[in-house]
Amino acid sequence: ADSQAAIEIDNLTVSYGSNQILRGLNLQVPRGSIYGLLGANGAGKTTLIKTLLGIRTPDKGHVRVLGFEAVKQRQEISARVGYVSESSNFYEYLNVKELCLLCRKTQRHWNQDKVDHYLQLFALPGKKTLRKFSKGMKTQLALCLSLGNEPDLLLLDEPTEGLDPLAREVFLNILINEVAASGTTIFFSSHVIPEIAAIADHVAIVYEGKIVLSDELDNLRSSHKILLLA
Ligand code: ATP
Repeated sequence: ADSQAAIEIDNLTVSYGSNQILRGLNLQVPRGSIYGLLGANGAGKTTLIKTLLGIRTPDKGHVRVLGFEAVKQRQEISARVGYVSESSNFYEYLNVKELCLLCRKTQRHWNQDKVDHYLQLFALPGKKTLRKFSKGMKTQLALCLSLGNEPDLLLLDEPTEGLDPLAREVFLNILINEVAASGTTIFFSSHVIPEIAAIADHVAIVYEGKIVLSDELDNLRSSHKILLLA
C-alpha cells in the first residue's frame, strides 16, 4: 500500500448505539507532519483515534492509515503505528524489563537500544524491576514502548495529561527532536493550546462530529483564526 497522506478520512460516521459521535468527518494528515487535534470534552477525539486503530468500526465512510484500510487491515496498521492513550495500562505482574521482552517477542520489529535510550531520558532505567507504576510513569513508559517498533505513525491521546513539568518537557523533546526528526508522523489530541502551538505544524478542531477547521499552524497564526495560537 502506498499513499500520500499518513491518515485519510472521508465522510466518517461513528456511533455508540444510537448516539452518533462523528458525523461525516473529513481529515487529511500529511506524512511527516506533527498534527494537533483540538476539541472539547466529549467531542470525539478518543473515538477518532480508536477508529484509526480499527478498535471502533465506522457506520459509514473511508479511513486509511498509512495507506491501509482501518478495521480491514488492522494488523498491518498496528504493526506500523505507535499508540499512547490517556490511560495506558500494562500487565501489572510484569516489570519494565519483562514488558520489553514481551514486546520484543510480539512485535514484528523491535529496537531495544532505542527503548533504553528513551527510558534513560525519563530516568526510568533505575526502575527496571518496578511493576507498579504511577499514572505519569505509565504514560512515560507507554511512549518508550510505543517507539520500540520504530513506527511510521505515532497516535497520542492527550499524552502530556498528568505528566510533571520535567517529564512533560522530556516527552515533548522526544517527540520533536527524535520522533518527528526521524520522519515519523505524529497525530495527537490535546487541550493544551500552548503545547500544540509549540510542537504542531498542523491543527484541526473537531466540533459536533466534524472537523470545522484544519490548516497549517502558520496559516492559522497569520489569519488570526485562533487568537490563542498567535
Ligand atoms: P475528552 O476530551 O473528554 O477526552 P473526547 O473528545 O476524547 O473527550 P470521546 O472519548 O471520543 O471524546 O467521547 C465522545 C462521546 O462518545 C462522548 O459523548 C461519550 O459520552 C461517548 N462515548 C465514549 N465512549 C463510549 C462508550 N464506550 N459507550 C458509549 N458512549 C461512549
